[in-house]
Amino acid sequence: MAPHSKDGHDMHAAAATNIQPAGFPIKYTKLFIDGEFVDAISGKTFQSLNPSTGELLASVAEADVADVDKAVKAARKAFEEGPWPRLSGYERGRILHKFADLLEQNEDELAHLETLDNGKPLFNSKYMDVVTGVKCIRMIAGWADKVTGQTFKLDGPYQGISVYEPYGVIGAIIPWNFPIIMFIVKTASSLAAGNSIVVKPAEQTPLTALYMAALAKQAGVPNGALNVVPGFGPIAGASIASHMDIDKVGFIGSTQVGRLIMEAAAKSNLKPVSLELGGKSPLVICEDADLDTAVEIANGSLFFNMGQCCTAGGRTFVQESIYEAFVNKAIEKAKKIVIGDPFKAGVEHGPQVDEKQFKKTLDYIESGKAEGARLLTGGHSVGKQGYFIEPTIFSDVKDDMKIATDEIFGPVMSILKFKTLDELIKRANDSKYGLVASILTKDIDVAHKFARSLRVGTVWINCYHVYDQSVPFGGYKMSGFGRENGLASLLSHMQLKSIIYPLKDSPWH
Ligand code: ADP
Repeated sequence: MAPHSKDGHDMHAAAATNIQPAGFPIKYTKLFIDGEFVDAISGKTFQSLNPSTGELLASVAEADVADVDKAVKAARKAFEEGPWPRLSGYERGRILHKFADLLEQNEDELAHLETLDNGKPLFNSKYMDVVTGVKCIRMIAGWADKVTGQTFKLDGPYQGISVYEPYGVIGAIIPWNFPIIMFIVKTASSLAAGNSIVVKPAEQTPLTALYMAALAKQAGVPNGALNVVPGFGPIAGASIASHMDIDKVGFIGSTQVGRLIMEAAAKSNLKPVSLELGGKSPLVICEDADLDTAVEIANGSLFFNMGQCCTAGGRTFVQESIYEAFVNKAIEKAKKIVIGDPFKAGVEHGPQVDEKQFKKTLDYIESGKAEGARLLTGGHSVGKQGYFIEPTIFSDVKDDMKIATDEIFGPVMSILKFKTLDELIKRANDSKYGLVASILTKDIDVAHKFARSLRVGTVWINCYHVYDQSVPFGGYKMSGFGRENGLASLLSHMQLKSIIYPLKDSPWH
């Protein structure tokens, strides 16, 4: 077992041979269109694999252009003729709260499904992803009846009002790293605003979206208001981006595909897009930071979710005077991470989501070695089945190495050295990405200078990976635009209309 591992992960990895069978049967594997689970028109299916074993989990109906079109027609009909956009915000909010209740009541099954399909530790699926999803629905549900327009007294004998209206049909294309949360982030705001929505989950992780669609129906979301079309990006995803009857598209995924989405939107009906894309985020550790806390935070910033976070701390900048001490402690900490069967209590690190991501990460590790970075721990796959990779740390990383510029989306920490804050700010900003950044320091002036200087959507001070359903989240630069979470997310699923009328015979005109 685990012949490749040299860094003490062999024992932990032994758990990977002991993948538990599903405790819940997989109930939903078909497309969810107009409130029903249906086969693809072509009859085609694709395989959803268990990343812990590489074995088949389920054959899932594969949407192509015709199925997306069918889903859009159902969504359009629900919007034009159905009850959903005509309900009060209060009623929509009530149904969304019920949806959140059902998620809570079924949290074990939902979390189990997520761990099977995605490979993340069950603890994370249940206590982070489901919990975050529920909070996100409840926050948006609470806003549903609180969005109001304004009134205007015009120069002439007229009055104006502004009203928020849903767009109509929203398309959403979501990734595989947080399938539950991404599904909810997109559907809760779309639905709360009164839109219909067609969601394409990632081909690696279609199962929880289908399961949640069934719960949404049970909660009272009407037929056609929510549709889920699993399938492949270049076919099902692309046909959402280019569909002439989708009014807005929200995409979360790679910068490369984000560009294709924008192009397709521009070439079809000029639908607005929101893009939440990649990152190569700087985590900056100043010499006055508490070293043990810094190691803890750096470790979590990168290795959480097996490095598969758009917000991962992909560039760990450490100040010169504490560099060696930090590196030594970081190695120690990384070696202690428990790798193995994500269903097993105490396991912190499961497999990468699929073979493609597994190989891509190993290729980046090779490139780090080839470009002269120092591999300090990890660097190998673990076990003979599934897609496990050891938490890996490189030091002596230079700014122009691929492991310092590219989003790896795997458990590879790249440590860089810096001397002064001014030099650091320049280097930290020298990236095409601008998603998040973090600084660890006791000096409030340094912290705020950094926070105001970084061209990123979120700055954490003395913390990392702290999210909240009420705090807007999104990117600068090529990390995208548009904001998830909070009121900003709800408003981004609404259009603002102005209505002007004469004030006849009014004493005030
Ligand atoms: P990753 O490379 O990490 O899988 P992607 O950006 O490729 O990230 O995938 C995110 C989502 O985008 C998935 O749902 C995927 O199916 C979809 N996707 C991939 N390629 C395209 C495309 N050409 N058009 C539309 N959607 C796509």
